[in-house]
Amino acid sequence: MDITALGVTVGGVVLMGLTLWFFFGKQGGSRPARDGGLYSCPMHPWITSNDPTAECSICGMKLVRGTQK
Ligand SMILES: [Zn+2]
Repeated sequence: MDITALGVTVGGVVLMGLTLWFFFGKQGGSRPARDGGLYSCPMHPWITSNDPTAECSICGMKLVRGTQK
């Protein structure tokens, strides 16, 4: 048995596994953490609603989705 060929094969498999883990791990970890569906007034961020057609009770502006960080 050629130990050099075996080492290269095992090394290649490990390298490929690490590459796949890197890409898939990165994709899984970079999912945007939005609360999705929460709307707030640009001027009064504490005025929030789940209704996309809701308006701010203070200034009457249409609420926008998830602008506050
Ligand atoms: Zn407002």
